[in-house]
Amino acid sequence: MLNKLLNEVVLSIVGKSAEEIVEPLNSNKHVNEFILAKKLEITINQTRNILYKIADYGLVSSIRKKDKKKGWYTYYWKFEILKCLEYLKELWTKEKEKIQSEVELRKSKMFYVCESCDLEYDEDQALLMDFTCDECGKIFSVKNNSKMIKDYEKVLLKIEDKLKIVGSEIEKEHAKLGKKRGAELKKEEKEKEMKKAENRRKRKAEKEAKKKTEKKVQKISEKKSKKTKKISKKKPSKGKTKSKKKPVQKKVKAKKSSHKKVVKKKTKRKK
Ligand SMILES: [Zn+2]
Repeated sequence: MLNKLLNEVVLSIVGKSAEEIVEPLNSNKHVNEFILAKKLEITINQTRNILYKIADYGLVSSIRKKDKKKGWYTYYWKFEILKCLEYLKELWTKEKEKIQSEVELRKSKMFYVCESCDLEYDEDQALLMDFTCDECGKIFSVKNNSKMIKDYEKVLLKIEDKLKIVGSEIEKEHAKLGKKRGAELKKEEKEKEMKKAENRRKRKAEKEAKKKTEKKVQKISEKKSKKTKKISKKKPSKGKTKSKKKPVQKKVKAKKSSHKKVVKKKTKRKK
């Protein structure tokens, strides 16, 4: 059904010669213009002319890609389905209104004809002409509009049907776009959540790392202060230089040295 409607679009804008372009252009992805030209069995310039005509109404969209080898741009095209459908809706609504007003006119006013020349005049014109044909001199007869009105009403019914079809296709397309948009929104939402979670994780890790370093610094400073206290109690000069490189060994040495000292001191005391 959609292809049929798109065919009506191309028919009204370009004409029957471009009908072959409808099917390939009715695509979710943009189609290479050279492929379109091949399908239509026409030149690339003829193809572009058709596409530009439709593009003037905003009913096709294009993207371009650069050919890395040749350095030129190739265009890719596709129908903008919703816009096409809305174009048709407008086209047919206008047609409907035109016929409706014609029917009203035919129902409310008199028309006159010269039957031999098959010419028609409205009441004002006929009055000015004194109800006599300029061409053949025959007197006008009153036009019977009933057949014309019937025909118009048939056309109106057909247009109504077409408008219903295009209306339901527009609804379908809106639903499709809505779904797509909904899916996109969901995806965006998910990505946002993931980013938030990631940031939270990062911040938490940073906090923990900060705490750890703070603890370390605290420990180190505590150790240092203890050591310095110890060292200050014992031999400060030897201890300091060694403690910077290997604190554990230093402790042992310091203990040893302190021991010696104690011993020495003890011995001294004994003396
Ligand atoms: Zn006549």
